[in-house]
Amino acid sequence: MKIKNVELETVCGITSVLPDNELPEIAFAGKSNVGKSSLINALMNRKALARTSQKPGKTQTINFYNINQELYLVDLPGYGYAKVAEAEKRKWGQLIERYLHGSKQLKALFLLIDIRHEPGTNDKVMYNFIVEMGYKPIIIATKLDKLKRSQVAKHLKQIKVGLDLLPETILIPFSATSKQGREEIWDFVDKHVLG
Ligand code: GDP
Repeated sequence: MKIKNVELETVCGITSVLPDNELPEIAFAGKSNVGKSSLINALMNRKALARTSQKPGKTQTINFYNINQELYLVDLPGYGYAKVAEAEKRKWGQLIERYLHGSKQLKALFLLIDIRHEPGTNDKVMYNFIVEMGYKPIIIATKLDKLKRSQVAKHLKQIKVGLDLLPETILIPFSATSKQGREEIWDFVDKHVLG
């Protein structure tokens, strides 16, 4: 995928009407601070279009980035930020749910997990929720550069076991620092979404 043009086209909050897009959509979900903004910026070759924040969980919206007038990259709200009240968390959950239920164009759903840590309860709930809705999520193991090479296999296994991944689930290790995994993600999109 050659990025020619990127535009943040639609920003949706909890009360917004979600757009009825005609182009295919690919969406990214993950816990706050997992590295979602960094991944999205890396995919789009932009330094800071998606927010990378020191205050995780602050602004909660679904952002639709139009890429090359070919597809939408959909940035879902980060979940699981501890300092947020339960009622707020529920609202974001509902927004994500409304999008997953309602989108007619969602072709690929990526769930991000920090490669260093065992998946948490929130991650498991999200993964199971996505699977139960009939999607086959692609797992992206973020912050790959934070591990020694010798630790990687063990940590990928930890994610597989922790989420109880279906055997055919695709798992892509990624680093926003080295950009490792970036091509693999776009290759997947080229083949399965645009192909
Ligand atoms: P978000 O809350 O999921 O959008 O996470 P961010 O993209 O804002 O990243 C959270 C923190 O992790 C920031 O300090 C990033 O610089 C850092 N980070 C994200 N991805 C990577 C990565 O691949 N490698 C390293 N070393 N740090 C990362």
